[in-house]
Amino acid sequence: MELVSIIEVILMRVVLVERRLLEEQSHLEELAALSRTLNYEVVATLQQVREPDPAYNIGKGKANELADLVKSSGAERVVSDNQLTPSQTYKLSRLVGVEVVDRFQLILEIFAMRAGSPEAKLQVEYAKLSYEMPRIREQVRALMSVERPGLMGGGEYEVDVRYDMVKRKLANLRQKLKSVAKTREQRRKLRRRRGFNLVALAGYTNSGKSTLLNALTAANAEVDDMYFTTLMPRTRAICASRKILLTDTVGFIDGLPPWLIEAFKATLEEIYLADLVMLIIDASDPIPELLRKFRTSRDVLAEYPVKVVAVLNKIDLISQEDLERKLDVLNNLSSSVVSISASKGTNFGALLDVMRANV
Ligand code: GDP
Ligand code: MG
Repeated sequence: MELVSIIEVILMRVVLVERRLLEEQSHLEELAALSRTLNYEVVATLQQVREPDPAYNIGKGKANELADLVKSSGAERVVSDNQLTPSQTYKLSRLVGVEVVDRFQLILEIFAMRAGSPEAKLQVEYAKLSYEMPRIREQVRALMSVERPGLMGGGEYEVDVRYDMVKRKLANLRQKLKSVAKTREQRRKLRRRRGFNLVALAGYTNSGKSTLLNALTAANAEVDDMYFTTLMPRTRAICASRKILLTDTVGFIDGLPPWLIEAFKATLEEIYLADLVMLIIDASDPIPELLRKFRTSRDVLAEYPVKVVAVLNKIDLISQEDLERKLDVLNNLSSSVVSISASKGTNFGALLDVMRANV
């Protein structure tokens, strides 16, 4: 009983909303996975196929439907898959009665949560401000229309002040980023001296990284070395005798705009430190999708001086025939491929062998 009430306090109930054109693919599943990363509970979803509406992004009727859905589901937040202008955010949240965030704000929150090092924190802060910069005018106007409803079109002074402030902050952050010592190599050396190897789990959101981390470390205690637990909160030890540390990373996400890439890379810093990366691939994706994700991930990982093993996960969801076809495809592209089911524990022996052989 107690546990249930604690969980209710922690989880934030959210409604997901997506507007798309007929030929566009839905991103609701990915948005749900991203929401789970932040411990949100998705209580309802709403979709609409139409051109963007200037006022609410979704149509007026749909927006009213969303307001009803928020009430009936007791949601505390709405997450829009579409990027919203400040005035759309403002109008929509007034109508539905709870806070509205868009996909990019959600991603920034994940990055902020995941940013461990001072450098990563600065990068995320920088991305947040870069997101705000072109939206300041609209933000100030939206605010002023509430505070001083009679005054139309004004606010130039307030806009300028805010522009200046954000500009100064951005310059300041650029300076700090430059001076943040490149301590990565030192940390890596220190860890090695202590006799630890680090294996990082990478891959797209929803591929099963966290499930695998939990499954592999279920029988093992948290890392007892405070140095690593404070430095890498998502790191745990396995195979105590070999001292392998396993760490989860922030998932790859499709369609990241350029201004978010640096923040994304900064939050991937466990990969810089790792001796081996296990690239988790969702076997239930159709081959073209699987290939596209594999190539994107491999290209990102190619920027890091680290060995990569491909891990085909969720094989419990596909037939033997399908598995063989996908293994064929992957074996042509990667020197080392293991197939597993993280949730069923299939082939963990082979996976651990590959890990030990490569660290
Ligand atoms: P992450 O975003 O990469 O950390 O992915 P998660 O570990 O959160 O897993 C995403 C979803 O895939 C969850 O619903 C898991 O239960 C599911 N999942 C993970 N591994 C497996 C697997 O081996 N088989 C099946 N059927 N589902 C899995
Ligand atoms: Mg995860």
